[in-house]
Amino acid sequence: MMIGLFNNYITPICKLTENLNDNTFFIKRDDLIPFSFGGNKTRKARYFFQKIIDNNNDCVVTYGSSSSNHCRVIANIAAKEKMPCYIISPIENNQETFNKKLMRLYRAKIINCPINEVKKIMDKTMNNLKQKGYKPYFIQGGGHGSLGTRAYVDAYREIKNYEIENNIRFDYIFHASGTGTTQAGLVCGKILNNDNKKIIGISIARKNPHGKNVVFGSINNYMKSKKKIDINEINFIDDYVLEGYSKFNSKIIKTIKDVLTEEGIPLDATYTGKAFWGMKDYIWKKQITGKNILFIHTGGTPLFFDNLEELFNGQFY
Ligand SMILES: *Cc1c(COP(=O)(O)O)cnc(C)c1O
Repeated sequence: MMIGLFNNYITPICKLTENLNDNTFFIKRDDLIPFSFGGNKTRKARYFFQKIIDNNNDCVVTYGSSSSNHCRVIANIAAKEKMPCYIISPIENNQETFNKKLMRLYRAKIINCPINEVKKIMDKTMNNLKQKGYKPYFIQGGGHGSLGTRAYVDAYREIKNYEIENNIRFDYIFHASGTGTTQAGLVCGKILNNDNKKIIGISIARKNPHGKNVVFGSINNYMKSKKKIDINEINFIDDYVLEGYSKFNSKIIKTIKDVLTEEGIPLDATYTGKAFWGMKDYIWKKQITGKNILFIHTGGTPLFFDNLEELFNGQFY
């Protein structure tokens, strides 16, 4: 079964040369999950496709923009499984990105519509498929939902195991937060392991209180009534959103160039580059010193190539 390809793969944790404020930095390379350029969407997709196989679904419907890593990964697995894949995509965010090219290569059926009609077209697509005798499986954008959350409970366990094997303790985990599913999974992992790390999600688009509320909802959804959590313990930082999704500034581009040069690791301007910049600024402003800090590289490597133009432009080259 295809799922086995990256089923038990544990992503590496590596030390960085970055040493801001005498902190020690590590990175968990979820971008190296060995399927379709990896990333958190690949980690989540495994569980969705496990469900699809268990349910005997024969096609998949999801949504996302032309730059969506989620849609690229789902389209790739669907192509491998020879399963039709329908992607509802807003025309407002329809640039010719590498992810979009890949979706086309995997022969995903991309249905463009205005952003306020996405919900309607999704329902319509599902109904049409059912009427034609198909058994479609629906995946929320970004792989949101309890199966996605579970994927990052797994990641937390990997981090705990690394700590035990290497006799080290991470004080902080930083990562890019979008739909908040990754963050919810990490927080659930922390609760289930009775741990006390600080998990800091750097929002790449959403503002509070909405962003934090969604993370809170996902945590409660996953934990059911097992344990109560205090919403004030969720660190969903919206100071680095700028004007919103995929908007970046020269500091983010400089961060990407520095990390690429010093560490040999590609970050992108929408997610990981924004989050890495946010992390450093947060550490600087909060005067955090002498800690072990883990950054989770959540993937998005095709977006790195979308950003090459900016990287090699002008003052930074
Ligand atoms: C989707 C995505 C995120 C955000 O993950 P969520 O679980 O939606 O919060 C972060 N980084 C990358 C590269 C992504 O593609």
